[in-house]
Amino acid sequence: MRTILIAECLHEVCSFNPVATTLSDFFVHSNQEMLQYHHNIGTEISGACRVFAQHADIHVVPTLSARGISSGGPLVARDWTRLAHDFAAALSVAGPVDGLYFCLHGALAAENELDPEGFLLAQARRILGEEIPIVASYDLHGILTDRMLEHVDASVVYHTYPHVDFFETGERAARLLLRIMNREVSPVTARVVIPALVRGDELKTQTGVFGEIVQQARDVEQGPNGLSAGLFIGNPFTDVPELGTSALVVTDGDEELASHKAVELAIHFWQDRAKMQASLTSIEESVRIAMQTSGTVILVDAADATSSGAPGDSNAILRQLTATGYSKRALIPIVDPGAVNAAFAAGVGKTITTQVGGAFDKRCLPLEITAYVSMLSDGRFRSESFRQEWFADRTAVLQVGGITLIAISRPVHLFDRSLFHAHGQDPRQFDAVVVKSPHCQSHMFEDWCARQVDAPGATSANLRSLPYHVCPRPMFPLDADVRFAPQPRLFRRKSS
Ligand SMILES: [Zn+2]
Repeated sequence: MRTILIAECLHEVCSFNPVATTLSDFFVHSNQEMLQYHHNIGTEISGACRVFAQHADIHVVPTLSARGISSGGPLVARDWTRLAHDFAAALSVAGPVDGLYFCLHGALAAENELDPEGFLLAQARRILGEEIPIVASYDLHGILTDRMLEHVDASVVYHTYPHVDFFETGERAARLLLRIMNREVSPVTARVVIPALVRGDELKTQTGVFGEIVQQARDVEQGPNGLSAGLFIGNPFTDVPELGTSALVVTDGDEELASHKAVELAIHFWQDRAKMQASLTSIEESVRIAMQTSGTVILVDAADATSSGAPGDSNAILRQLTATGYSKRALIPIVDPGAVNAAFAAGVGKTITTQVGGAFDKRCLPLEITAYVSMLSDGRFRSESFRQEWFADRTAVLQVGGITLIAISRPVHLFDRSLFHAHGQDPRQFDAVVVKSPHCQSHMFEDWCARQVDAPGATSANLRSLPYHVCPRPMFPLDADVRFAPQPRLFRRKSS
């Protein structure tokens, strides 16, 4: 029998979110619990396990899984130190190990470590030794670093946005790990750093120009001597030293091919960078359109996207709706534990006066509302998109005239209808719906009039509005006249 360890650390940080992340913001599972968690939910680990299960001589040893409940601010120093220690302990298993699959996001950042994934891989390499094959997989919003590449044999990255290939990414990583363990292939990796940050609907791989670039990467991966290829566009809100975009190509021993193809991908990406920026409508104009349109209007509040790491507490659109006397029906999610507490103290059927919004991010001031408490819940429900458990903690549905607020105590992903449905709200029954996400899920809100609202927030697609301190400059679109000369860098394990 051969032993493969599996480990997982998935979290995405927005450096501009004032609310720090702690270990209580993770779902943590170890040993067999980790496999039970991943059973039948379409994750990377599920995909990898399905591949491993097809090989009778492979024994899978689950170690530790830490998955962010949502995205958030930087991980506090003490908890990062504890988490890194826990991974070290979990990987220090007794007996021989033949390979490691490490499932990572790539956009974690801690107060005391700006490349946590690179740290975890370096640590895993130190524990397992130089000879043991390690394959890591990533979200394409990860920020690829040299250290991440130095300690792995190969890397695999999602090919879809919105992400629907978690399972397939795990399968690709597992197959590649097995080929490396069998010494069928000898991976060499090329990385080209592109000084660009991108956002907007052209990133949707099914319809946007980014999809054409990813298709080019897929062709490389599936072509002669291709092992893995893709683009890391980074989470633009993770202000770390290697923030930017990277083209990645892994080939079977062919350094020249890896470099050449990575440069081609990078040039294609660079040429389309200006198309991959969000087109934004002012709050005033968005609300005016919502008032005048018959049928549901989706107001996409990308600046407060909890899945990108924003706190979810913005009331900017709510404030504009109330200020303009909006009289139709609107549905708005908002993170505000204080408002939720007030609703719980009063109870269902009571009317409360409370402040809502601006609880954490001071870009918005709290807004006073008088609201009818129509529902209270424990905020536990399953994701519509992926069936994982989501946890918003205590939740209150508040009625403010025609506006229905779903106030939650802690952020959850808000890119689909899960929170709405869990609280008895059908978005189709509303005239305006605020979706706190970088975009509108077309398969859920098809044909609805959608506006990308230029609201203030920690994850604004108006990147120039954000207070970057660390990311390399010059960077498109933050700076004028950014130049790009592709310089491939090669990575190859000595043992391969
Ligand atoms: Zn992502």
